[in-house]
Amino acid sequence: MVMGDLVREVDVVVVGGGPGGYSAAFRCADLGLETLIVDGDGRLGGACLHEGCIPSKALLHVAHVIAEAERARELGVEFGPPQVALDPLRKWKAERVVGKLAKGLAGVARAKKVEVVNGRGVFEGARSLRVEGEAPQTIRFGHAIVATGSEPAALPGVTPGERIMDSTAALEVPDVPERLLVVGGGYIGLELGQVYAALGSRVTLVEMADGLLPGVDPDLVQPLARAVGKQFAEIRLGTRIDGLREVGAEVEAAFGGPPARFDRALVAVGRRPRSAGLGLETTRARVDGRGFIAVDGSCRTDDPRIFAIGDVTGEPMLAHRAMRQGKVVAEVIAGRPAAFDNVVVPAVVFTDPEVAWCGVSEAAARAAGREVKVARFAWAASGRAATLGRADGLTKLVAEAATGRLIGVGLVGPGAGELIAEGALAVENALLAEDVAATIHAHPTLSEGFMEAAESLLG
Ligand code: FAD
Ligand code: NAD
Repeated sequence: MVMGDLVREVDVVVVGGGPGGYSAAFRCADLGLETLIVDGDGRLGGACLHEGCIPSKALLHVAHVIAEAERARELGVEFGPPQVALDPLRKWKAERVVGKLAKGLAGVARAKKVEVVNGRGVFEGARSLRVEGEAPQTIRFGHAIVATGSEPAALPGVTPGERIMDSTAALEVPDVPERLLVVGGGYIGLELGQVYAALGSRVTLVEMADGLLPGVDPDLVQPLARAVGKQFAEIRLGTRIDGLREVGAEVEAAFGGPPARFDRALVAVGRRPRSAGLGLETTRARVDGRGFIAVDGSCRTDDPRIFAIGDVTGEPMLAHRAMRQGKVVAEVIAGRPAAFDNVVVPAVVFTDPEVAWCGVSEAAARAAGREVKVARFAWAASGRAATLGRADGLTKLVAEAATGRLIGVGLVGPGAGELIAEGALAVENALLAEDVAATIHAHPTLSEGFMEAAESLLG
């Protein structure tokens, strides 16, 4: 503790105001605990609201509008080439989308009497957190929740700069580069690659694995790979980017052969946890070799008063996982029985077509030696898909062979991100294929594919 610091006592201090942190704090407040959030940016929303989920989905909506206008030609409706004005686009994203939601969160915090302190939190032991910044103070807490999230991983030996962007820089859309190199064919490379391609960039995507979205069911990835194969100028799989440097107004990349030149590069090679410099060594909390804070089934660290949630605790690094963990931890601190024991964390890649999945994939089930039945419903047979001019989708179910219990759901197609909610509900609640088959699904909707696939699993 520094002499002269303000010292305060609270029931719960939350370090980090992202989706994990604010969900935990709001629930703590609802449960009658005096709760304070310390955030290094002095605002709520974290990476998700300010440099992740929300701004990327706003830009993907723009890409979607452009793509739909192009597709309309097939239906006999012509709009002409899009005229994109970046200033109004950025203003809409920053003010009407992100700004509005940020104001909403600040309002909720006020209503729940959760104070947000602007500063960096550093632990000084198992009961005390020092806040560094414009209002230095020491907070003595009953419990602490670490929700410090993650940051973009850098390419070894590559210095980000004006033209070598991470996702945060790319979301600002500084311009529409004529030639954009995207390093990484994961979530961000594909989502933002499609945004820039829609805005008019010639996108070259380089992925070191043999396929896009490595680890995801190839049946689901294939329709997306076909789509980006048409939208992007080039896709180089099985190719690792080692060197990247700015040369004048260009970026030079080395991936075999003579160096290639681009106007900008987006590096999207994963994220790493923000656990360094948190003073955790003054507590009993443990950090693993990759920097993730180790937690048990209640998200408690090895220090019984300190919990950790969200990206800083491991994969999948998704906002809704962080939020659920936050709510669970609040219950645990309030003395209620709760655990982070969800069966599924659904995942959605918000590309066009969208890819979404939850539970056990066919490949994982077979690798584990589980006897499963697999159903595929191709959207070519869906009335609703036909009316949308989109027959490129697929609904895939994985069920236990002996019981018919659904253990995995995969989707690709427009709206897959919304449709996966039914899959998550079914798998989380151990529904049988016959339960889904006997549930009336509105016609004509894409959700009927779920029912049709389930019917095909019945004997
Ligand atoms: P964060 O949101 O990272 O928040 C952590 C907060 O802690 C930040 O405000 C930070 O300033 C603060 N902080 C850090 N260290 C300190 C400290 N020492 N003291 C005080 N404060 C500190 N996920 C999805 O589920 N869906 C999506 O569509 C999606 N899209 C994404 C798109 C992009 C481009 C990116 C980059 C990510 C996306 N994600 C998405 C992932 C999602 O953003 C994260 O999983 C989520 O934000 C994690 O929440 P969190 O609460 O763990 O941490
Ligand atoms: P990612 O892990 O999804 O993909 C990174 C890709 O980069 C991998 O396919 C990897 O093989 C490849 N790669 C790594 N090093 C490389 C190299 N040197 N050369 C070529 N390829 C290389 O990571 P991301 O796209 O950066 O996203 C980070 C995380 O953020 C995601 O894993 C996810 O948790 C979260 N996110 C979620 C969403 C969503 O929910 N829709 C959207 C964006 C981000």
